[in-house]
Amino acid sequence: MKRRDALRNLSVWPVAGIAMGSALPINSLLASPVAPPPGKRNLFKELGIRTFINAAGTYTFMSGCLMHEEVVDAIRSTAGEFALIDDVQDKAGAKIAELCHAEAATVTAGCWSALVLGTAGVLTGMDQKKVAQLPRLDGMKSEVLVQKTHNSGYVHALTNTGVTLIEVETSADVEKSYNERTAMMWFLNYAGPDGKISDKEWVELGKKLHIPTMIDIAADATPVENMWKFNDMGFDLVCISGGKGIRGPQSAGILMGKKELIAAARLNAPPRGGNIGRGMKVNKEEILGMYVALEKFINLDHDKQWKIWEDRVAIMEGAAKKVNGVTTSVFVPPVANRTPTLVISWDINKVKVSKEEFQERLRKGEPSIEVMGGKDNSITITSWNLQPGQEKIVAKRLKEELTKATV
Ligand SMILES: *Cc1c(COP(=O)(O)O)cnc(C)c1O
Repeated sequence: MKRRDALRNLSVWPVAGIAMGSALPINSLLASPVAPPPGKRNLFKELGIRTFINAAGTYTFMSGCLMHEEVVDAIRSTAGEFALIDDVQDKAGAKIAELCHAEAATVTAGCWSALVLGTAGVLTGMDQKKVAQLPRLDGMKSEVLVQKTHNSGYVHALTNTGVTLIEVETSADVEKSYNERTAMMWFLNYAGPDGKISDKEWVELGKKLHIPTMIDIAADATPVENMWKFNDMGFDLVCISGGKGIRGPQSAGILMGKKELIAAARLNAPPRGGNIGRGMKVNKEEILGMYVALEKFINLDHDKQWKIWEDRVAIMEGAAKKVNGVTTSVFVPPVANRTPTLVISWDINKVKVSKEEFQERLRKGEPSIEVMGGKDNSITITSWNLQPGQEKIVAKRLKEELTKATV
C-alpha cells in the first residue's frame, strides 16, 4: 500500500489504521496531517479556494498549521452534544494546568486573546463593577512596564484594556518607573535576546516589587520544555498560541498561571458578557481540541520529530544547491519558530529572477507551493508544515524553477 493510501485509510477507519500502524513508516505516524477522506464535499474545489503545500511556516495568514488527527477527532466527537462552557473550561483547564505545571489554565481564542484577558484579569480582579467598566480604568491601576525592544505590534492586545505602556531598558529603569499605577510587567519571549533584562530577572523584579508578570510565548512551542518552563520560572501568567507549533485549533490558545488571575481573566471572558472579552469566544470543540493538541504535542517523540524536520530540509537543500549560482544554509531561530530553517539565496547574475517572481512561479505551479521571501535574492523554507513526501515535491520544483531562471 502506498503511504498516501495508507494515510487515507487511517483517517476513514481509525481502528484499522491503528491495527496496521506498525506497517506505516514512522514519520507518517509522527508528523502526518492526514489527507481528507475521499468522497466528502470538497469546499476548496467547490468555492475555488487555492490550497497549497506550506513550505513557509506557521503563518496566521496561511491558516497556521494542520491540526493533529487526534484534534480533529476531538472536535468531531464533541460536536454532537451540549455541555456548559464553564464546565468544559474547568475540566480541560485543570488538565492543561497539570500538564504545564501551572496552578490554573483556560483556553482562549488564540494567544492574542490570552494577552487581553490576562491583562484584564490583573486590572479587575474579581470585582464585577471593574469588569463592566473596562477599558475605562478609573479606580484601577493603569500602567504596564515593557522593555523598549519588546514594544512591538502585539502590545495592542494589552492596550485594548485601556492600559498605557511604560518603556524601560534596565532594571534600574524598572525600579524608577514603578509606582502605585503599575499593574503588570510584560515580557515578549522572542524579543528576550534583544533586551537588557532577562526573563529570570524580569520575574525577580516583579516579585520584589509585587507586580504580576506576564510572558508571551505565542510561537515558541519548541523546545517542548517551554510548555512548563515559564510557569516554573515564576511568571504569573503565560500566553501561547494553539494553532502554531502545538498544531491545535488556529482559533485557540492558552492562558495559564496563578489561580486567582485565571479566575479573574475568566470574568472578562465568554461565556460571560458585558465585558471586553465577549467577542473572544471559543466553543467546547476548540477547548477540548486545544487540550488534546497540547497532550499530543507534549507526548511526541521530539528527537524523532526534529530529525524528520532536518531530513526534509536536507532533501530540499540538496536539490536547490545543485543549481549553479545558488547557495544554501540552514539555521534554527533562537527563540520563536524554533525549527530547522533553510535559506536559499542566489547570485542574480546567474539566476535571473527576483524573489517575488520566484515565489509567484512556485505559487502558480502544480501543485501550488508557498515559501517566504528572505533578504535580497533569497527565500526561506521550513518543513514542519509539510506532509510526508511533500519535501520531495518542493525539492523538485525548487530545482526546476531555479534551473529555468539560469541563463
Ligand atoms: C502569533 C502571535 C500572537 C498572536 O497569537 P494568536 O494565537 O494568533 O492569537 C501573539 N504574540 C506573538 C509573539 C505571536 O507570534
